[in-house]
Amino acid sequence: MSAECQSADTPCSPDDSDAPDRPKAPATINTEWLSDCSGCHITIVDLHEKILSILDSVTLQRCPVLTDIKDYPPATIGLVSGAIRNVHDRQAAIEMRKSCDHIIAWGSCAVFGGPAGAGNLHTSDEIADAVYLHNKTTVSAPTPTREVSPLESTVSPIDTVIDVDLYLPGCPPHPAFVLDALLSLLEGRPPKATQESVCGHCRRQMRKTDVTAIRSGSDGVADAQNCFLSQGYVCMGSVTIDRCLAPCPQNGVPCTGCAGATMQVLTEPNRDIRTEIADRMSRLTHIPYADIVKEIERTAKSHYSYTMATKMIGDKPTFLIKRWIVEADQDYEGTRYDCKH
Ligand code: SF4
Ligand code: SF4
Ligand code: SF4
Repeated sequence: MSAECQSADTPCSPDDSDAPDRPKAPATINTEWLSDCSGCHITIVDLHEKILSILDSVTLQRCPVLTDIKDYPPATIGLVSGAIRNVHDRQAAIEMRKSCDHIIAWGSCAVFGGPAGAGNLHTSDEIADAVYLHNKTTVSAPTPTREVSPLESTVSPIDTVIDVDLYLPGCPPHPAFVLDALLSLLEGRPPKATQESVCGHCRRQMRKTDVTAIRSGSDGVADAQNCFLSQGYVCMGSVTIDRCLAPCPQNGVPCTGCAGATMQVLTEPNRDIRTEIADRMSRLTHIPYADIVKEIERTAKSHYSYTMATKMIGDKPTFLIKRWIVEADQDYEGTRYDCKH
């Protein structure tokens, strides 16, 4: 996949980013956001005083969250966040590629398609119809066509349109990884990021328990010491690449996989998110493997939401989300029928 994902020996942490021998020649940075939530751009603010460590060697010349420059001046590094969802996204990505020596795919939307990838489960007409014509909470209106870029037929990661030099998944990636990615290009060295999963930074303990049923967030409060899997909660930390330093499980919330799958899951055809988790969780508890697989299929829109637009997941023979959704809807209808009678 990328230099960022394939290389590195030392874990990236907020404290290891000061680098020696930085080149003195000023570099220029352009950023662009495509279809996204702007969260990746906010990581620039989250660098806090660490941004001072690069300000002597870079000029941030185009950045939609800070500047009102509409064109694309030549730059050393281009950070592109967001997915390709509409015609404007495609054109903007191409302009960034043309103007920048190096392109970083910044965040899970740019790398994998991100949450917007769920749009690929529907046609553009179905989406427009649900949003504008038959939306139960707003006044119905025709789909706007003026001054709105037309939707493309699918949501795509940016490397389907332009070449990418460095992939930086995360939703958003921790600022330490953003800084290290920039420094790695400025210093001409590989990034320090590892291929560890989120479990690598999680202090919870995996241990065998006598739990027999899957739990959801509303089923009590998980204890703070043991792995969520051991307690019956689905946690995606073991199949998710660590570009966040594990804030969720450290703060009482199971990982939902927002940084995208590990390289092992992405690149090995027979490895799959649901079976990997089911295998691990069934060994740690007394919950049957099949029940866990079924639960993850039932909630697949959540568990695959960040990566379903990338071919590395979408083209897997084990990824059958449309069938899972139909089955989940049938189960739901059956439940509703049971409730009424
Ligand atoms: S990767 Fe996450 S934080 Fe970044 S733009 Fe996409 S949704 Fe927002
Ligand atoms: S599966 Fe989740 S809770 Fe368990 S160790 Fe990994 S990140 Fe932590
Ligand atoms: S722990 Fe999981 S859900 Fe939370 S930020 Fe990291 S990858 Fe995303």
